[in-house]
Amino acid sequence: MTRVHIVGAGIAGLSCAVRLAGRGRAVTLYEAAAQAGGRCRSYFDAKIGRTIDNGNHILLSANEAALSYLDEIGARHTLCVPPRAVFPFVDVRSGERWCMRPNAGPVPWWIFAPGRRAPGTRAGSYLAGLRLAFAGPDQTVADLLDPADPLWERFWEPLTVAALNTAPREASARLLWQVVKETFGRGEAACRPFIARGGLGASFVEPALELLGAAGAEVCFNQRLRAIDFEAERAAGLHFAERSVAVEPGEQVVIALPPAVAAALLPGLEAPADSRPIVNGHIRLPAPPRLAPGMSEDRPFLGLVGGAAQWLFLRGDVVSLTVSAAAELAERPSEEIAERFWADTAVALDLDPDQRPPIRIVKERRATFAQTPQALRRRAPARTKWRNLVLAGDWTDTGFPATIESAVRSGRAAAGIVTEI
Ligand SMILES: Cc1cc2nc3c(=O)[nH]c(=O)nc-3n(C[C@H](O)[C@H](O)[C@H](O)COP(=O)(O)OP(=O)(O)OC[C@H]3O[C@@H](n4cnc5c(N)ncnc54)[C@H](O)[C@@H]3O)c2cc1C
Repeated sequence: MTRVHIVGAGIAGLSCAVRLAGRGRAVTLYEAAAQAGGRCRSYFDAKIGRTIDNGNHILLSANEAALSYLDEIGARHTLCVPPRAVFPFVDVRSGERWCMRPNAGPVPWWIFAPGRRAPGTRAGSYLAGLRLAFAGPDQTVADLLDPADPLWERFWEPLTVAALNTAPREASARLLWQVVKETFGRGEAACRPFIARGGLGASFVEPALELLGAAGAEVCFNQRLRAIDFEAERAAGLHFAERSVAVEPGEQVVIALPPAVAAALLPGLEAPADSRPIVNGHIRLPAPPRLAPGMSEDRPFLGLVGGAAQWLFLRGDVVSLTVSAAAELAERPSEEIAERFWADTAVALDLDPDQRPPIRIVKERRATFAQTPQALRRRAPARTKWRNLVLAGDWTDTGFPATIESAVRSGRAAAGIVTEI
């Protein structure tokens, strides 16, 4: 049976490996780090004495490929699944709280119901989002929507940075429309927020590794790919830091690496060049706090407006805060970020601001590629000029923002091509 060599054990590489192993193919998965998961991983943090995620991740119910990957690895039950799409918010300057509640079905009557939309906003400001549907390829979100409108700060900006990890003044309006169409455009059943109850590792990574082990796939950690030999339009050898592997005739290679790494290994490959950071803070409280209004066991998160952090997540006694498109914040000292995150947390969860517990700040400097109109043109197709080498990764040309959904779609598309070759 011909082997498939998959390089990169992020979600793209894992989903490709799971698909191929499930079809009975011989698979070897190589990973530079000592663990799998890539930008979607959990690890033990000694400072706060808890297992944390590198960053908070949300799936939406519209993320069909990501959810079906969880079905494939038997892990869907590890998600918190709220019965309805409700998004609780707090403005940390005023303490004002509200919930956004999209309605069922594609006609968005919730925007006409003051109790369902953000306070101080008008239905017309939501309808202005339809302009995104007609966006030109070079237009940004800020070209089409008004930053002075009250809805900007309470909906359009948080949605853009959460979905595209790119500030609205440079984020592709077309890509945001793709998100709006697939989620809010299909009604509340498509925008229910799902969170990994026990962490990213337990939901997205460990069950996949177990399945691969049971299927006889080889998973090799601490294997950094340094070079690829090409001959006669095919990949013929993989050179890792400490060993080389021949790619025998009939064998295939899937490169499931971040864009900069793939571009350095594959001559002539165009890939998005710029990335944007996400900053997270993890705070271990002395005890699990009371849930804030609008939060629940199956909805353990809160949107924050007017402070430093954008989202707050709660898992037991650990509060985690997120800032996406965080170019400026990522340059600030961790201690200053910790102070600002704690101030937001104290308001959001009604805690004593003078009792600051230990806080771990995690700066993911290359969280995703910058999803600008220019960068979208550099997303590469899965097929390459080498007949036995296929690409995967959230940055490849899936048509979706660089998310778990895109990573899974790319991994599965690569598996499909490999099966055809
Ligand atoms: C903080 C943060 C928050 C996020 N929030 C969300 C969210 O809420 N929802 C969502 O859907 N998505 C979110 N994302 C995006 C999501 O995590 C990514 O889209 C997804 O994990 C990308 O998977 P991937 O397999 O394409 O890439 P990666 O995860 O980057 O996988 C590539 C793998 O290749 C390995 N590697 C690199 N170089 C080499 C080499 N030379 N040889 C061998 N191996 C190598 C890496 O170690 C890595 O394991 C977030 C990302 C971050 C960082």
